[in-house]
Amino acid sequence: MKRLVVLGSGESGVGTALLAVQKGWTVFVSDKGSISQEHKKELNDAGVEFEDNKHTEEKILAADEIMKSPGIPDTAPLVVKARAKGIPVVSEIEFAGRYMDAKSICITGSNGKTTTTLLIYELLKNAGLNVELAGNVGTSLARQIAEGKKPEWFVIELSSFQLDGMFDFKADIAVLLNITPDHLDRYEYSMQKYIESKFRILQNQTEQDYFIYCEDDENIRNELGNHIYKSNLIPFTQRDLLKSGAYVTNDEVIINYNQDTMSILSQELSLQGKHNLYNSMAAGIVASVLKIKKTFIRESLTTFKGVEHRLEKVCSVRGIEFINDSKATNVNSTWYALECMNKSVVWIAGGVDKGNDYEDLMPLAKSKVKALICLGINNTKLIESFQDVIPTIKESKSMKEAVELAYHLGKKGDIVLLSPACASFDLFNSYIDRGIQFKECVREL
Ligand code: ADP
Repeated sequence: MKRLVVLGSGESGVGTALLAVQKGWTVFVSDKGSISQEHKKELNDAGVEFEDNKHTEEKILAADEIMKSPGIPDTAPLVVKARAKGIPVVSEIEFAGRYMDAKSICITGSNGKTTTTLLIYELLKNAGLNVELAGNVGTSLARQIAEGKKPEWFVIELSSFQLDGMFDFKADIAVLLNITPDHLDRYEYSMQKYIESKFRILQNQTEQDYFIYCEDDENIRNELGNHIYKSNLIPFTQRDLLKSGAYVTNDEVIINYNQDTMSILSQELSLQGKHNLYNSMAAGIVASVLKIKKTFIRESLTTFKGVEHRLEKVCSVRGIEFINDSKATNVNSTWYALECMNKSVVWIAGGVDKGNDYEDLMPLAKSKVKALICLGINNTKLIESFQDVIPTIKESKSMKEAVELAYHLGKKGDIVLLSPACASFDLFNSYIDRGIQFKECVREL
């Protein structure tokens, strides 16, 4: 029997382990941290051997193949040793994809993946297609295959870490939303390496497959120009008029594919903001490729509820509106959040800086932000970057303190926006914890 070692015991690790035993592999799960009781029970029930709080090298390097969870970098010593020994190291999508009968719609990009993945999923489901959702959102692909799910389509959110370990898997429809600097620490601080990682979503595609991409993104345009691809390329843009693809003109979104055209007023789209126009266009093209009726496309794009922690309206207190954009963990997503604010903003930002360059935010900060509340252990860089641009800057060390400060600085008609541009791990467990605490503190005002 072949031996699969699974490094990391999160949702994708445990899902892969369950699928692999079912398919006849001998499986060993190893996690340097602790494995949750729930996951231990599942592994025990399936007869999977595991260890936590350590990595036993001999057991790991005895693998025929290793599935590495996305959180583990390629530079982790064991991963380096395994590769040096010639052991293939793959990601969950690669492993699970071997056992998948369904066709796939895979979504990647630096920002907007979850929003667009959910939007596409809802759209296809409302149109009556037999479709399941997988990837970073919800249940892992591997677990769903292990559970015997056999939809016609899987809509899958793919991070660059999943793509890095993907070799033979092919996306039938691939969506690339944008490529802006993020996670560069995992790519030797090379933007080109990060771009190439995102472009892996195209690998193995043939003439039958589709690649839907943002033409306004310089990184995508340049990289596309450097290669020849077999896939059907379908762009979306807010800058041009296209014969084939999606674009915006006179406040209307036009989806023009296969000699069939439909238009929706941008103000009727349920997801507002420039960034969300891109997400809606991408979803609209996928639906057109699948020949979904225009009425379903229109209905889904105009009624989609949005996703928690992404420009989520919390409530208004004393005429001050509170918006939770805790998922904005990089500069680009915060740029789009500030861009679509139409009132004076008290901005809560900060956390773990991933090598941020705040320059792009300066014009928006200058014109829209009246006060900045830094919420992080080390706020020096934020303060130094914005001290000449934003009139009032305060520091806080807890969400409660930040929200109370924001409330006192805000006036009727202002917006308090949590859009941190940073990761959350200095003061919170995750962006979800940060967003939930924000909402709780706002509701306690
Ligand atoms: P991801 O899954 O790629 O992290 P999300 O859909 O969770 O993306 O959104 C993350 C953040 O990026 C949110 O703050 C959201 O408002 C913002 N965002 C969503 N779509 C886009 C886009 N197309 N371009 C830039 N920012 C976006």
